[in-house]
Amino acid sequence: MSEKTTIAVAYGDGIGPEIMEATLKILDAAGAQLNYERVKIGKEVYLSGMESGIDPSAWDVFRKHKVFLKSPITTPQGGGYKSLNVTIRKTLGLFANVRPSKAYAPYVKTHFPDMDLVVVRENEEDLYAGIEYQQTSETVACLKLVSKPACESIVRYAFEYAKAYGRKKVTCMSKDNIMKLTDGLFHKIFDEVAKDYPEIENDHYIIDIGSALLASRPEWFDVIVTLNLYGDIVSDITAQVAGSVGLGGSSNIGESFAMFEAIHGSAPDIAGKGIANPSGLLNGACMMLVHVGQSAVAEKIQNAWLRTLEDGIHTGDIYNEGLSSERVGTQAFAQALIDRLGQEPQKLAPVRYNPDVKPIKVGRKSYAAVDKQLSGVDVFLDWVGSDKKRNPNELGAALAEFNTDKLQLKIISNRGQKVYPDGQPETFCSDNWRCRFVNPNGGIDYTDVIALLETLHAKGYYIGKTENLYNINGELGYTLSQGE
Ligand code: NAD
Repeated sequence: MSEKTTIAVAYGDGIGPEIMEATLKILDAAGAQLNYERVKIGKEVYLSGMESGIDPSAWDVFRKHKVFLKSPITTPQGGGYKSLNVTIRKTLGLFANVRPSKAYAPYVKTHFPDMDLVVVRENEEDLYAGIEYQQTSETVACLKLVSKPACESIVRYAFEYAKAYGRKKVTCMSKDNIMKLTDGLFHKIFDEVAKDYPEIENDHYIIDIGSALLASRPEWFDVIVTLNLYGDIVSDITAQVAGSVGLGGSSNIGESFAMFEAIHGSAPDIAGKGIANPSGLLNGACMMLVHVGQSAVAEKIQNAWLRTLEDGIHTGDIYNEGLSSERVGTQAFAQALIDRLGQEPQKLAPVRYNPDVKPIKVGRKSYAAVDKQLSGVDVFLDWVGSDKKRNPNELGAALAEFNTDKLQLKIISNRGQKVYPDGQPETFCSDNWRCRFVNPNGGIDYTDVIALLETLHAKGYYIGKTENLYNINGELGYTLSQGE
């Protein structure tokens, strides 16, 4: 192992610089063959007036080294600031976020001493893309985009991960009983990809009961694959029930780039006090060592780390009267670990990597174009009625006047619930109405939609948004409303 690998490094905000300093000190002491090139991101860049939070020169550094170790950064709340974490993950195509959560009982207090699971989270799309609009005075909307290539690559990644790391089962979590097209696509692709891995068990849970089980029976699970937002939430739950959110590392993997970090954030409440636990970033850095082919160094560090935990040398977040022997700060913890390099845990199972383990390579698949037939349009109107009574029957009767032989009003729904025709008077109606016009006899041309919109506009209706209704390969490419 002679040639050094250069990686990009960002010290981050809050506790970021303290835990990065401790982590790099440990990597160097363990003999990691690494050089570091520092990039500027986060608060200092936001404060210099760049809303992106990243100095443009950083992209060239990423391009050069392909591997990035990042401390947590603070995302300023409100304003036009976008989360830099999300920007980096998406710009560099880091589609897989891998977050292991393991118990280290009895040395780190947890109710679940046998838990040892990995959350594989889709990292680029879903509600987490943050595509939001104010549609009417009363309603705002967030667009949930889910694509076939993203589902396929994250699910395949989860199975490949299970194969590479000797895991036995992959569990999919989604909410496809409600979101039949978006979450339904994720589940469907999971079932298809699972067939390519007959040696690995697979199952599916609806995300609500799945999350409850992760919090109450985490030892049932092995690898979990799920969509972006659910993955964000459940991986914090699993990190916390394993003992502390301060312990978990995470990798963000793409086709060409990889970024490694801690699960936790910049912890501004304890920043500058020298008490933060560096273990999350350190465990992320060990995932990075495995990625760059230095798994022997990762093994050495993680075994010394386990030994430090066993010896009761604990930072405040995991300190426990009776279990811990010494409460230490960040740098003292790092030094205690360095003093134990070369030692192995005596009670906890030592970490062993298969020296042949290679970075998991999963590409993006393109899908053939589907046969799309336009058959109607949903027009979202901002409307309260002349007397502000929001009477769906008044709106329905008025819109039915604009029916043509190509487009006829089928239903009106309010926040997904059908309110016309034959709605129930008890249903609360906001000012946002989805008016569904379809051709009951087949396809239409987009000019039919334009003609309808022109009519509505000319009659003084405010159109907040439209959504085309397609039949895809002969099946509905949209969901029906409750009660439709
Ligand atoms: P947080 O994870 O920073 O902190 C949550 C709690 O855990 C706090 O009480 C904190 O003191 C404690 N904690 C976290 N890490 C710890 C550690 N290493 N040692 C000891 N205790 C630790 O979450 P938050 O307070 O919701 O977020 C703070 C900031 O971090 C926000 O600006 C958020 O946007 C950002 N954030 C960044 C990332 C990232 O860079 N990947 C991830 C999550 C949050």
